[in-house]
Amino acid sequence: MSSTVKSPWLIHYDASSCNGCDIEVLACLTPMYDVERFGIINTGNPKHADIFLVTGSVNERNSKVVQQIYSQMLEPKVVIACGICACSGGIFKECYNTLGGVDVAIPVDVYAPGCAIRPEAIIDAVVTGLGVLEEKRAAVAEGRIEAPALPQTPTAADKLVDAQTVRAAALAETQSGWATRERSPQ
Ligand code: SF4
Repeated sequence: MSSTVKSPWLIHYDASSCNGCDIEVLACLTPMYDVERFGIINTGNPKHADIFLVTGSVNERNSKVVQQIYSQMLEPKVVIACGICACSGGIFKECYNTLGGVDVAIPVDVYAPGCAIRPEAIIDAVVTGLGVLEEKRAAVAEGRIEAPALPQTPTAADKLVDAQTVRAAALAETQSGWATRERSPQ
């Protein structure tokens, strides 16, 4: 087992979380759960981090920040989507300015749902991420790993059009229901 896996450093970014998941991340770092006893250190520098822990959903503005942090991290690196908002957009998924989960901006290795995600689930996700990290470390050592292309992120304008389309379809369906009721005999 490599030293990276024995003592992984992580960077946490709050995309547009309600702060519920962030408080649980903080709980992991404080004495109650104390992940430092496993060698897990929270760093503010992407160049020092092995694991990118993201909470909250992605929007047009923060998608660029997420991509920038990801690009600054060295290989091997692992991304954990922490909480259902980071996994899929969660309850904010249909909001006009929400593009979706973290995977609309960068490749995600571990999806850890929950609202808010429990500290035990965060620790479990990190442990799962360590397995992925070890595989990637071996791939880097053998020269097999290539930097993945970042996905093309949709824009809020795309989303707005999409939301309007959804609303128009829902309205058409409702109106066709009215028409059917008006035609049917009482
Ligand atoms: S998953 Fe729930 S607690 Fe976490 S950021 Fe989303 S709404 Fe907040």
